[in-house]
Formats: sequence, structure tokens, C-alpha cells
Amino acid sequence: MKSICPRCGGASDDGLCLSCILETTEFMVCPDQIELVVCPVCGSILDRGRWRQSDSDLDELIRDALFKKISVHHELEDVELEILLHPRGSTRFVADVHLSGMFRGAIVHSDCQIRVRVSRRTCDRCSRISGRYFEGIVQVRRSERPPEESDLSEAREIAQSLAAAGYKKGDRLAFIQDIKDVRGGIDIIVGSTQLGRHIAKTIAQRFGGRVQESVKLVGCRDGKDIFRTTMLVRLPRLRKGDVIYSKGTVMEVVGFEGRRTAVVSLDKGERFFISEDEADAAEIIGDSSKARKSVVISVDESVVEVLDPESYRTVLTIRPAGMKLESGAEVKVLHTDRGMFLLY
Ligand SMILES: [Zn+2]
Ligand SMILES: [Zn+2]
Repeated sequence: MKSICPRCGGASDDGLCLSCILETTEFMVCPDQIELVVCPVCGSILDRGRWRQSDSDLDELIRDALFKKISVHHELEDVELEILLHPRGSTRFVADVHLSGMFRGAIVHSDCQIRVRVSRRTCDRCSRISGRYFEGIVQVRRSERPPEESDLSEAREIAQSLAAAGYKKGDRLAFIQDIKDVRGGIDIIVGSTQLGRHIAKTIAQRFGGRVQESVKLVGCRDGKDIFRTTMLVRLPRLRKGDVIYSKGTVMEVVGFEGRRTAVVSLDKGERFFISEDEADAAEIIGDSSKARKSVVISVDESVVEVLDPESYRTVLTIRPAGMKLESGAEVKVLHTDRGMFLLY
């Protein structure tokens, strides 16, 4: 015996004896009540003043919130917390919390009860969506002719998937309010300017267009000016797959790089770029997606005789350089405003 416990008078190593320490230590501190705010529309949860997306069900949300609010003595080891939730009506629960753990070699237990209140409130995002709020419009247009429906549906998909990805990353305003078919293209109405810029840039990269941004003051709310941003995506006049005639050469558009248009000439099979001015001035004479399969009848140094898949007559056309051709070979032919061509 080294010393005497000042509380019970029993034996002690130093100061309070272990059983007095166990009796006087609070191993778990619980709040009387916790409150949870959940959006009834999307299930988001209000976390320290900010809405946060959540895929958890209410039970999990309550448990998570409880775990955050319960504090356990720092010296405790092998801690186990058991929570039993008892519903008391649709918005109230009682949580029975049971703690067990090891403290200086002794097994300890502690219990508490916490009241849980769940209130339902529409979150920032859902109230903005239902209030038809938007910050920007992405306008997809093409000069001279409206964009192809297939390009527009790809643009719609780009917009939807970027909105979903943005929301997942925590941009609460990454939503698409509406996508409208308008004359000459589509208007994508977006919840945030940031999302709109991202969509505009991605569509422009995909189709080789460019983006022009303008901002308009549309009003005032709570003493703050409200701006709306319009992002005009101007798709190039040419699209991938167009067969064009420019400066004496027939070529197929195969892609875009910045403002330059990548083409393949249909006589020599050369790949090069044409400038924006040349692309604007080029004559569009066909669409390579309309090419059809055909068969070579005969071939010489400069011309090929193929079967026209439409008329079933034989037709002569220029022999494209470097193309492996022999009679019976299968080729892709395209009727254009300037005659028939073989595609590479
Ligand atoms: Zn004691
Ligand atoms: Zn919501």
C-alpha cells in the first residue's frame, strides 16, 4: 500500500483508487437532443449551415449525426457504440445509446438517451429548380444551316452528363433547368454559370466551334444585382463527314483542331488542314455518312470502273492514289454534286 484514496479511504497507488475513478469518470457525453434537417425532394442534408448531397436513408443519416455528437472518453479502448432508434411519430425518434469499452484494464459501460428531431425543408437546389432559377443559357447554333439532329442530341447528352458530374463533385447549382429546341439549334438553360461554361467549352471542343460569352444584368434581389450569362457556341459551318470542294480539290472533313479544319483529299489521300476562311468559302457537295458499298469492276492508272449501287450501271471515277484496288475489291462510293468519288 503506497497511499490512501481520498474518496473512499481504500488502498490506492496514487490519488483516487481505480473503482472511485470508474465511478466518477464520465465515459460518454451525449446531447439531450439533436436536430436533423433533410430535403424531402432529394434527400440532401443540412450540415453546419450547408446543404450536402446524401444517398443515405434516414436511419443512416440519424446514426451518422448521433456518432458526430456523442463524445467518448479519450482513454477508452475497444469502444463499441450501440444505437437503438425508436420512432415516436414521423419526425421524432428516441435513440438509446449503449457504450462499452476498456479503461485501464477494466470493462466499462455507459448508457444515454438522445431525442432526435427530423425536420423537412426543401434544399437550396430543389427550391431553385422548382423556382425555375437559372444563371446561364448555352446557345448551340451553326452558321448558315441548323446543326444536325444527331449533333444536337450529342450536345444534349454532353450537357446532362456534365451536370450530373458537377453535382456529384459538390456544385449544388449544377443542374439543367431546361433544354429548348429553338430555331437554328438548342438552348440549354443551366443552374450555374460555371456549369454553362463547362458545357459550352466541351461542345465547342467536340464539334470544333467557338464560344462567345455575354453577361446581362437582369434585376436585383436582396440588394444584390442578378446577372445572367449567355454562352453562344457557334459550331463551324462544316461538320465532320462533309465532303467539300475547295480550290480545285474534293476532300472529306475528318475533324477539327482549334479553328483549323482537318481534311483528307479524295484524289491523293493527303491529310492536311484548311484555314477558317477556306472552310467558310468551301462548297459542300456531299455527306460521307451517305456513302454506299460497291465493287470495283476494273482499274487502270488513273480511273476506276465501279458498279453504281443506285443504278447498277458501271461508272468511271478518278482513281484515288495509294488505295489498294483490284477488280472485285469492295469500296465505299459517294454521289456528290460533282460526280462520284471513292472514299478512303
Ligand atoms: Zn476510492
Ligand atoms: Zn433537395
